[in-house]
Amino acid sequence: MFRSIVHVVRAADITPHMRRVTLGGESLSLLADRHLPGDAIKLYIPETGSDAVIPQYIMLPNRKNPFKVRAYTIRSFNAATAEIDVDVFLHGDTFGSTWARTVHAGDQVGFIGPRHDYRGASAGADWQLLIGDESAFPAIAAILESLPEGCRAYAFIEIADQRDEVPLDLKAQTSIQWLHRGTSPAKQSKLLEQALHNFAWPDGKGYVWAAGEQHAMKAIRHQLTHERHMQRHDFQTISYWS
Ligand SMILES: Cc1cc2nc3c(=O)[nH]c(=O)nc-3n(C[C@H](O)[C@H](O)[C@H](O)COP(=O)(O)OP(=O)(O)OC[C@H]3O[C@@H](n4cnc5c(N)ncnc54)[C@H](O)[C@@H]3O)c2cc1C
Repeated sequence: MFRSIVHVVRAADITPHMRRVTLGGESLSLLADRHLPGDAIKLYIPETGSDAVIPQYIMLPNRKNPFKVRAYTIRSFNAATAEIDVDVFLHGDTFGSTWARTVHAGDQVGFIGPRHDYRGASAGADWQLLIGDESAFPAIAAILESLPEGCRAYAFIEIADQRDEVPLDLKAQTSIQWLHRGTSPAKQSKLLEQALHNFAWPDGKGYVWAAGEQHAMKAIRHQLTHERHMQRHDFQTISYWS
């Protein structure tokens, strides 16, 4: 992991609820030999109105920090330009959503990362199942796009409605189920655990990666352990928000 100051290159909506913020900076070229699909990062985002004197804070983590820290995912890395795309789910007037909506080219943010959050590539599995809501979609999309031809993958992705479906550039044989939550609150949704419950378990060794709301992840972990009898090293469930 490394700490650095990066800047906003551009930002654009990719769906009604997802905004892509592209970050750049020479230091990001360090990702060339350190980045894996699904990598997590932390962004130190200045509060509105504060001066962007980030360096002395981000470089000295023990100092009282005048910024809010939010965890996001590297959706993609462009080695030629030393830029990363971060896809931010716009789920209300929250700090992170507001930042993504209002960023301007040149705005600075602190960057810490990457943390490797996906172990499936080395699991020796015959197939993979990826499960998550909008917050996990950037990781799921990056992982699915990294799987080579010949791999078999399944994904359950919870979104509000069809307008939030994003086409992916896939090489593996992939089956994606988009689960439409509509206007129901994301926090109470049981769509992901129901989809897992109804999943026709394929033959062979599977690897399951799931991320999203804390209670949904707990229910999925319980199903994988007690109903599917999966071994702990054959799945990951990661709480992304609560
Ligand atoms: C390793 C990791 C990687 C992540 N990657 C991404 C990513 O690439 N893109 C992304 O958009 N998010 C990602 N997240 C999730 C993101 O960090 C959280 O959603 C975070 O809370 C967003 O901050 P905020 O300021 O918008 O909301 P907060 O100020 O943290 O929360 C405000 C309110 O919003 C609710 N809330 C928070 N997140 C959600 C949500 N997803 N859906 C509905 N309600 C929510 C909270 O319950 C709270 O009531 C990731 C999280 C982790 C741990």
